Amino acid sequence: MTTTSESTSATAATSGGNSTAALENNPFLIAQRQLDQAVELLELDDATHQMLRWPMRELSFVFPVRMDDGRVEVFHGFRVQYNDARGPAKGGLRFHPHETIDTVRALSAWMTWKTAVVDIPLGGGKGGVCCNPKEFSPTELERVSRGYMRRVADFIGPDIDVPAPDVYTDSRVMSWMLDEFETIRGRHVPGVITGKPLALGGSAGRGEATGIGVVVAIREAFKVLGIDSTQTTASLQGFGNVGQAAAIHYVKRLGGKLICVSSWDHDDKTAYTFFKHEGADPVFLRSITDGFGTINKAKAQQAGYEVRDGDAWRSADVDLLIPAALENALTGHTVASISPQVKVLAEAANGPTTPEADLVLNERGIFVIPDFLCNAGGVTVSYFEQVQNAYNYYWPEAEVHHRLDHKMTSAFHSVHDMAQRMNVPNRLAAYLVSVERVANAMKLRGWV
Ligand code: NAD
Repeated sequence: MTTTSESTSATAATSGGNSTAALENNPFLIAQRQLDQAVELLELDDATHQMLRWPMRELSFVFPVRMDDGRVEVFHGFRVQYNDARGPAKGGLRFHPHETIDTVRALSAWMTWKTAVVDIPLGGGKGGVCCNPKEFSPTELERVSRGYMRRVADFIGPDIDVPAPDVYTDSRVMSWMLDEFETIRGRHVPGVITGKPLALGGSAGRGEATGIGVVVAIREAFKVLGIDSTQTTASLQGFGNVGQAAAIHYVKRLGGKLICVSSWDHDDKTAYTFFKHEGADPVFLRSITDGFGTINKAKAQQAGYEVRDGDAWRSADVDLLIPAALENALTGHTVASISPQVKVLAEAANGPTTPEADLVLNERGIFVIPDFLCNAGGVTVSYFEQVQNAYNYYWPEAEVHHRLDHKMTSAFHSVHDMAQRMNVPNRLAAYLVSVERVANAMKLRGWV
């Protein structure tokens, strides 16, 4: 069995850092450590373990883009297909200045466990471009999107690997990428990408699907814990696609009270937390938030919100914490600041908790809804979008949401039942459910 320290040197070489903190918070090493625990409990053989521990295929490249002022900028891009034993690779595309191959590898691994936990016939993949889209004009953003697609077009397709939106990419970026792919192929292939606008073959309900799925998981967690959701309070980190929908539906459907929300301010290059103890209004906050998820500080203050530092969301006295920004929101160093009142952690973001923080959460008896279960609503509706593209027939939003609720509820309970049966924390239980399904598919194919 390969040890974590062996793979440490392999991945550190590609991620460009080897300080202890960098290794401790390296998302791919975290993903491998989480997997190792599940493999041990499932008593899987060494070949199966190795296949599950590494991406099946990865593409790393540069591409040139002519900027508006005539300069050519060269961008680094990635696409990782982690495992496709259960079906075509599936996963989002990130445009982010700190994107690394190891982040993309980790996210593609988590996508593999995510599609398995909701039991949809897909594998896991992820992609990204190292860039700051906030600095682009719309025409530059379009050229970056098309440039990325030209590099990956030969490696993706509806039955190979299907990208979707993620951090700082949206349906507009998906439209340009779809058009570039279809131009190269010379025919319509709507199922090559999901998260498209409705007019180009998108699914009703895709925009809010991840956030709604998060709220379905929170609803089920409160049910099994015997907590009345209308008496709960929550604190949220990150107010983009996922955070906005999670906040709105937590208040609307569960009747909970949102106390504070944090977001990243690109101009000040720091995060702020916006508090309203009598209850924040997520619909109002959305109206003063830009396309990059930055809440307008002056307008929030005018409306009576108290503005504190970006970490304040973590120590708020609430029942529910929802990290919906990026990786490593809770580490061994920061987890101690969580209020004793917190009962549930709903990981809307991917990889918000390091293993060191996990140990503390488990000791404190906080009910964790692990990331790849909690935020699986997005990929579930992406799958529905592929199904509708294949039929060329489209469902009304109510049907999409009904099917989404069913999938999320059933995934939540398969993980909860496993946690009870094996007497393990929820994250390990989710790994047991997913890894067993992927390992089984590999075995049926005769790979291992
Ligand atoms: P987004 O770009 O729409 O929003 C990200 C938000 O995080 C923004 O509000 C930004 O201001 C905020 N943010 C960034 N750094 C922060 C910090 N240090 N403190 C406070 N706020 C910070 O991205 P998204 O699509 O909402 O994705 C959020 C998370 O959910 C990511 O981990 C992503 O991988 C995951 N996810 C997204 C989807 C999806 O369908 N979009 C699906 C599953 C998982």
